[in-house]
Amino acid sequence: MIKNRIKIYPKIIIMGPQGSGKGTQAELIAKKLSVPKIATGEIYRENIRRKTKLGAMAARIINKGNLMPNEITNGIMTKELKKPDAKKGYLVDGYPRNIEQAECLEKIAMPNFVIFLGARMPIIIQRISKRRECGNCKAIYHLINRPPKKSEICDKCGNELVQREDDKSAAIKRRLQIFQTQTKPLIARYKKMGIFHSYDGEKPILFVQKQIFRDLKKEELI
Ligand SMILES: [Zn+2]
Repeated sequence: MIKNRIKIYPKIIIMGPQGSGKGTQAELIAKKLSVPKIATGEIYRENIRRKTKLGAMAARIINKGNLMPNEITNGIMTKELKKPDAKKGYLVDGYPRNIEQAECLEKIAMPNFVIFLGARMPIIIQRISKRRECGNCKAIYHLINRPPKKSEICDKCGNELVQREDDKSAAIKRRLQIFQTQTKPLIARYKKMGIFHSYDGEKPILFVQKQIFRDLKKEELI
């Protein structure tokens, strides 16, 4: 039997604490599905790097492990999600972080698949504390998973590697607390909507990715 189906575009939210493999999964999934990946953290870090006014504010707030005000984040995301390339699906990372942001997203483009990556605190701390960033070109390394050829030196530009301010353990713990308290109501919301999918972020990246793609197929989003 031939079914006439209207193609439903994947509108994906990826959630999970830092160190759950969220960034890597987001990158891989967006690439495979050819949808834009819109990551609030990247947008803010880019502004910090370019020393914009927004960047100065973000540096003050994010480096302490706090969240940017809703109206600023919602404004940025609205602009990004209204771009033509986001009309055929999107993947948002680091957004929404609370109900007010979730409501904003639903008004612009209703999400239809939520990926939640779980990981325990000790694993998170251990993974993140090994992360390094080039102070010059901002290339990202991991002392175990993606080590530089020369210890603590950037492969690309030879600059010294540093630990990002928001990767230090006080900021990680603070952010985890915010993550847990603020995202709990989101999890409940997306479960109710029937679009919530939970995965074990401590498992290998490719293993988790296979499970995600299996579920995306089940939902007929790919
Ligand atoms: Zn570099």
